[in-house]
Amino acid sequence: MCIFCKIVNGEVPAYKVYEDEKTVAFLDIFPRAYAHTLVVPKKHFETIDEMDEEYLAALIKSVKNVAKLLKEKLNAEGYNIVSNNGRASGQEVMHVHIHILPRFENDNIKFEFPDVIEEYKEKLEEIHRKIVG
Ligand code: AMP
Ligand code: ZN
Repeated sequence: MCIFCKIVNGEVPAYKVYEDEKTVAFLDIFPRAYAHTLVVPKKHFETIDEMDEEYLAALIKSVKNVAKLLKEKLNAEGYNIVSNNGRASGQEVMHVHIHILPRFENDNIKFEFPDVIEEYKEKLEEIHRKIVG
């Protein structure tokens, strides 16, 4: 059983901050931001594209509720939402999870979207054709 399934069933302790019928949220033990939180479905799925719609809807609703909680309780001024899917993306725990990184003005957190890749900008038409063609 995976580590997040063990947290869901209580075998492994976690700092749970929110729970509902289909999801649970807990603090990341290697925080990249103040109150860095992970939101997970209670059922094991590896990646978002494998999830059924019931759990998907529950997961995004839970993300909203947790973000609201972090704003209300910690006065977070914003937040970044990240989800790594598949090893190529950097996913280390193979149970779907959404990272919520609460943000504060001048919090000095380096959170950067990748730089523009000119080569891919030039290939937009070709890429579009591959996806929809
Ligand atoms: P990812 O690279 O998106 O798979 O991230 C996995 C995240 O899970 C990392 O940020 C880890 O710090 C976090 N993590 C791993 N084990 C635990 C645990 N037992 N409790 C809380 N967070 C964990
Ligand atoms: Zn699992």
